[in-house]
Amino acid sequence: MSIYIYGAGNIGEKLLKKMNKYEISLDGFMDSYKEGEFLNYPILPITEIDKNSIVVISVLNTSSILSIYKTLCSNGIVNIYWFKDFSDKSSKLGLEAFLKNECVSLVGWGDLIMPHVELHISDKCNLNCRGCTHFSPLFDEIGAVFEEKMEDIMKLKRLFPEIFRIDVLGGEPLLNPDLAEYVIALRKELPKTFIQIYTNGLLIPQLSEDILKIIYENNIGVSISEYAPTHKIIDKITNRLEEYEIHYRIAAYDSKQKFNTPVSTNANSKYPKLCISDGCITVNNGMIARCPTLMYISKFNEYFQQNLPTEGIYKLDDYTDGNLLLKDMEKEVPLCKHCIQKDIEWSICDKEKHFEDFAVSE
Ligand code: SF4
Repeated sequence: MSIYIYGAGNIGEKLLKKMNKYEISLDGFMDSYKEGEFLNYPILPITEIDKNSIVVISVLNTSSILSIYKTLCSNGIVNIYWFKDFSDKSSKLGLEAFLKNECVSLVGWGDLIMPHVELHISDKCNLNCRGCTHFSPLFDEIGAVFEEKMEDIMKLKRLFPEIFRIDVLGGEPLLNPDLAEYVIALRKELPKTFIQIYTNGLLIPQLSEDILKIIYENNIGVSISEYAPTHKIIDKITNRLEEYEIHYRIAAYDSKQKFNTPVSTNANSKYPKLCISDGCITVNNGMIARCPTLMYISKFNEYFQQNLPTEGIYKLDDYTDGNLLLKDMEKEVPLCKHCIQKDIEWSICDKEKHFEDFAVSE
């Protein structure tokens, strides 16, 4: 059976190295924009690919992955996988081990897919970065109730046969004492979904053996945002994860040193517009919004006595058609006019939180 990588770029190159490690030979690349050759392999048009081939998508953006998936399906290709690009310590070789360890299978997923959902299992955080787009420094409590969070997932399941990706986050999700229950329940309800815990990693060295085993056994990835305090103990963190063979990814230290002030209270701000949460659909207590900034903006409003617009948060129960919900998640909301780019150095909030930690008024 022929094997192709979709995506002739950096991740495609990484994927090729991984395939070499598993002793799998590649037949070529495919790409939406490039033709010719890449790394001495041909870049082939979709029409020249045998329909029984295996195609592994090497793209990170979720909506691009699903768009490529749909294009491949409409051309009769069914053996489609996505490369997770997570670390892996497996010593097994061959195609079966590669697909199991490194990829998410999209075989037989159909048309109606929820691309990406964010699930807060702790509103509060142990780090409290200035500029947090989830406004976590303003929360004092974990807030999440297991039954309510899982009910949100069940409501999504009624609308979507498949959910591609769930990010379990917050705030800091490892603060939640019910973490193991979430991991087990999410994997039970979503056996095919790419599920990852998004964390600053600081609590990983202290996680119990039981929780680490449960994360491994349920095939949950760990995505670490490497802030300065995380960087100081990154070896401890990765050693602990590797000890339990947990797949992980690190969002590089350098990229985490720049942060952004996410909103302006002025809809005609002098700062350029910037959306840094597009596609991060967020569910919370029976509601759904196109991004966490919108879902949690009411906390900012309450804390600083502001009135930024909250329109665009919908009740999951009001939908019977997943396609309509996805259309609503693409519509601009009034808050979008307030999302700006104003670079700041990464730092943590003081005990007393300031308006300027999250917003400007000009
Ligand atoms: S409110 Fe709009 S612009 Fe702002 S983060 Fe959300 S989707 Fe992006």
